[in-house]
Amino acid sequence: MIRVDITSKSFNGTPVLGRVAFEIAPGETLALVGPSGIGKSTLLRILAGIDADFEGSVERPDALAFVFQEPTLLPWRSVLKNLLLPHPDLTQDQARDMLVRVGLAGKDGLFPGQLSLGQQRRLSLARAFAQAPELLIMDEPFVSLDPETAEVMLRLTEGLIADHRPATLFVTHDTREADRLADRTLTLRNHPGGAVID
Ligand code: ADP
Repeated sequence: MIRVDITSKSFNGTPVLGRVAFEIAPGETLALVGPSGIGKSTLLRILAGIDADFEGSVERPDALAFVFQEPTLLPWRSVLKNLLLPHPDLTQDQARDMLVRVGLAGKDGLFPGQLSLGQQRRLSLARAFAQAPELLIMDEPFVSLDPETAEVMLRLTEGLIADHRPATLFVTHDTREADRLADRTLTLRNHPGGAVID
């Protein structure tokens, strides 16, 4: 079980989040929505343990993966190396299977700059799922893709979530995306003293 109980989060004395408490059951997918600037990315970073400067507590598994808006690949490493480096226990065969799964068969030796943006996003998805995370965190993973590529990515993500059943929290602005992927939606709304969940 993942338990988030934030009592407050401020940047330089300015409150961003107020009381934000929720749980994610194993295998459950939650969408996180709310207006721009309200604190969605801040909440994801706290959940991931990237930002520990807040009041409250978070219980999370060690096996977590974070998919950012940008693919965050290492440009000077091959596709295969980008997959293997964060996962030292992954064999080359397992990595190649994962590349096949996301539609990047035969691209092992290319560098990220030789991939389209859609292919880079697929690689970052493959990296996230390579070692069956218990917690998957995604920050607008389908934003700024053309509709066809976004649909391919969405279908791929649905399939990977169905196979691996991680607890998932993802940010989206798209209610159709939320309806399709999520079991529940959390909405952040403005409140004096920092955003809260509806
Ligand atoms: P969202 O993801 O909902 O667009 P963010 O979590 O990125 O919102 O930001 C929430 C608020 O916190 C914004 O007002 C933003 O300017 C502020 N903020 C985010 N990160 C920092 C930071 N590192 N330092 C100071 N302020 C920040």
